[in-house]
Amino acid sequence: MHELTVAIQIRRGLETELASDEGTLVADVVRVQVGALSGIVPEALQFAWPHAVADSATLGSARLDIDWVDVQLLCVACNDVYTLTEFRSLRCPHCRSPDVEIIAGDELDIASVDVRERARDLS
Ligand SMILES: [Zn+2]
Repeated sequence: MHELTVAIQIRRGLETELASDEGTLVADVVRVQVGALSGIVPEALQFAWPHAVADSATLGSARLDIDWVDVQLLCVACNDVYTLTEFRSLRCPHCRSPDVEIIAGDELDIASVDVRERARDLS
C-alpha cells in the first residue's frame, strides 16, 4: 500500500524535526495537505497512519488531519483561474484554450503540527 510508505515518510520527517528537542515533545495533531493529483487516497492514508506511528514516542498518539486540495488551473490565454471538477477536459471553461498551468493539486505537504511538552514522569 503506497499510503503506508507515505505515512512512514511523514513520521520519519517529523521525528527528525522534533528530535532536536531531546524527546520532550509529543505531537497531538499532524495536518497534511493532499492534492487531488498526488496519487494519495485520503482514506487509505488515514487508515495507514496509526500503523505507521504506533511505536513512536513522539507521534504515537497524534491525530492525522488531511486537507484535500482540489486541482486549480491557470489559463495562460485569459488569466482565468479555475478548479478542475472533472478530469474529462483541462480546457479553460471561459475561452476554451488548452494552454493551462497546474497551480494547485499536486501537494503532499505537512501543513502544521500541534505539539506539547511531554508530562514529566514523577515516579
Ligand atoms: Zn481561458
